[in-house]
Amino acid sequence: MIQLFMPLNFLGFVYREIRQSLANIERLFGLLEKPVQVEDRPDAPDLEVTSGQVRFEQVAFHYQPERPILADVSLEIPAGHKLAVVGPSGAGKSTLARLLFRFFDVTDGRITIDGQDIREVTQQSLRRAIGVVPQDTVLFNSSIRYNIAYGDPEASEEAILRAVHLAHLDDFIERLPDGLDTVVGERGLKVSGGEKQRIAIARMLLKDPPILVFDEATSSLDSGSEKAILQALNEVSARRTTLVIAHRLSTVKDAEQIVVLDQGRVVERGTHRELLARNGAYARLWQHQQEHEPTTANASPNAGD
Ligand code: ADP
Ligand code: MG
Repeated sequence: MIQLFMPLNFLGFVYREIRQSLANIERLFGLLEKPVQVEDRPDAPDLEVTSGQVRFEQVAFHYQPERPILADVSLEIPAGHKLAVVGPSGAGKSTLARLLFRFFDVTDGRITIDGQDIREVTQQSLRRAIGVVPQDTVLFNSSIRYNIAYGDPEASEEAILRAVHLAHLDDFIERLPDGLDTVVGERGLKVSGGEKQRIAIARMLLKDPPILVFDEATSSLDSGSEKAILQALNEVSARRTTLVIAHRLSTVKDAEQIVVLDQGRVVERGTHRELLARNGAYARLWQHQQEHEPTTANASPNAGD
């Protein structure tokens, strides 16, 4: 018996080791979030962005059937406008961004861009149209230049430098041994969460897409850079369709439309003033954050960076 078990155990060990290293590789490339079942339809046309209107129509979604994540979510972001989604952690906010980027397909309902169901168009054209600044940016083990120009290998030096400047990365890059050619990532220079976010912002600025998604895009920045970056983000998003996901309400209180998501459902929507006047979920979140969380006005200078 023992002789039979030994090799099986050993094989089990090898199998686990291989699985683990594959998982690490997948994580590095952000593939864990991207299941293989999302495929282009045969002969799918490219998405044609005419004005950039985004609609979620009665969207439902689950990762596993026994655990619904989103239910009956309807949102409309008129072309060139901004919509903010707020809500407690785990509400399903990042899932909305993943669905728009089509990392997963909706379970029910549909998502359209300028009237085209995003399942009907090529993923490549969809992803070209959308720039995401994610919650956790994974950097490639490569130069900063590569990490910024990723997606546009023909980007000019001038365009890269402009994106670097708008993302407030000039000082950071000036301090590096090889400037833009310094290698960063797991096996290169360590960069802070705030610097990673600014690299992601520069990447998005260079890509210059018609639709923008910021998923807690300034959450790892200290209050000083947060203010400057928010201003830069506001400038780029001025005439573009923008979905802003925020934990800190102070960063979105000027949005034209705020949607409050709780346990996968839209529980309130309106402007900051309207939502405060309702005295409901948003007002409670706002009150809580005023009391417990550092805001741009009173945060310690190094918070989170
Ligand atoms: P939020 O961004 O509002 O904090 P998320 O959209 O990230 O929330 O997550 C919503 C829920 O879905 C959470 O309960 C989370 O644990 C779950 N979830 C997120 N990603 C996955 C996944 N890949 N597989 C299974 N469950 C997930
Ligand atoms: Mg999230």
